[in-house]
Amino acid sequence: MMHPPDLPLIKPSDAKSWSLCARRVWLDNKGEFDLQPLEDAFEQLVIELGLAHEQSILQRLSNAMEIHIATSPEDTSRLMANRVPVIYQAQLLNEIDGIIGLPDFLILHESGQYQAADAKLSLSEEKKEIQVQLGIYRRLLGSGLPAIVFLGDGDQAFIGDEANVTANQFVTEMREILSSEDEPLVRYSHSKCRACPYYTHCKPPFEEKEELSLLYSIQGRAANGLESAGIDTISKLASSEPNSIPDVPYLKGYDKKHRAVLQAKSYLSGKIFQLNPVVLPEGHWIHFDIEDNPLTGNGEKHVYLWGFLVPDFSGNNGHESFEYVWTDRDEEDKQGWHQFLDQIEGYKQQYPDLILAHYSSHERSTIRAYAKRYGMEDHPTVAYLLGDESPLFDLQKPVLDNLVLPLQGYGLKDICKHRDLVNFQWQDEESGSQWSVVQFNRFLAEPGAEIRTRLKHEILGYNRDDVTATRRLEEWLRANFMS
Ligand code: SF4
Repeated sequence: MMHPPDLPLIKPSDAKSWSLCARRVWLDNKGEFDLQPLEDAFEQLVIELGLAHEQSILQRLSNAMEIHIATSPEDTSRLMANRVPVIYQAQLLNEIDGIIGLPDFLILHESGQYQAADAKLSLSEEKKEIQVQLGIYRRLLGSGLPAIVFLGDGDQAFIGDEANVTANQFVTEMREILSSEDEPLVRYSHSKCRACPYYTHCKPPFEEKEELSLLYSIQGRAANGLESAGIDTISKLASSEPNSIPDVPYLKGYDKKHRAVLQAKSYLSGKIFQLNPVVLPEGHWIHFDIEDNPLTGNGEKHVYLWGFLVPDFSGNNGHESFEYVWTDRDEEDKQGWHQFLDQIEGYKQQYPDLILAHYSSHERSTIRAYAKRYGMEDHPTVAYLLGDESPLFDLQKPVLDNLVLPLQGYGLKDICKHRDLVNFQWQDEESGSQWSVVQFNRFLAEPGAEIRTRLKHEILGYNRDDVTATRRLEEWLRANFMS
């Protein structure tokens, strides 16, 4: 089918927006308002590191081969006809299909065909987008050769026929989305929407119609099912009897339905509902939080900071000491891991009833991943941390099991920053885990000792606030919900 000439061209670079939300990719292409893009230092950092990586690949290729820069689709065709060894910033246009692809490189293969190649820092985070992009370059080239991904760690990955289904799905859906004159109807998704540049455009209409997916734990399919049963607003859900709600996807059984009804009531009233008394383990509590950098040269996360808040339970007026293990570079990753294990061993000796409190499963899964990375699953300290008698305690669990809160997300900051809940405020308003990664990468790139010291101090301050927040959350739970 010929691509209608009045529709925008389909661009593989839309794959990220498309994979997140149909409305987002429609607004990117057809939105008619001036958008104030959200300041996103993390995204900016990813772009800068990606460009630097692309330049290093360009340098490497140009040391070995003749490279020409393409200036237009016609120029790309001319360079390809001239069998130029490498074409940089190629522009592949198929007017019939209405697709334009911009591979970083086209490399002349010994078979005489061109092979598309992109520079990507890693495959792990954005696999679907990469499959779409490289799959479409292959489609545009009509090539049976796999496309190449030059990875940040110096390795290469190859994308072949396995990407065709996803790439074709992208083209079909994009054509449908772009054909519509109206914004696609979608559900609210807290994790996607709050990080989206169109948040302020989309959120008020969702709130006005009391969209069910504004509620924590009500996913799109559950909202569809509730709507089919006539429960199409938060108010209607709040006034429903849990037993009268039919089973719908992700909302089956009395407990889940009861919780959904309370979540709707909490959304409307701001009230807290307690399902059961909170039970916290007895012992010597130390609060624990890590900061990791996903943007490493080798594609493996580097935990640059393992932070601990050690409260003094001797009655010394609430004194809390902040202790930590820090490593400057990913080359020191193993050393930092061993220092972390030594730190844990020290706590274990000092406090036989140690409770290592953290928030969410990230800390435990990182310890498991590190043990695997360094072949240390049987190390005694690892066995202590991950075994049946583990001191690790995820503070999110008693919250999720026992409380319904007036929140759309149950992250540490959601609960702790809320004035009517824990009401703990981070010293730096801007700070967050991605903020910490940006600061750490600035620290890595900074030659001046004074500025490096300041950046490190700020990152440590943020981590200290994180572990202090889990401590304040523990105190809040003890004071209000233990019985
Ligand atoms: S705010 Fe949400 S619904 Fe709106 S475009 Fe972004 S992700 Fe989609």
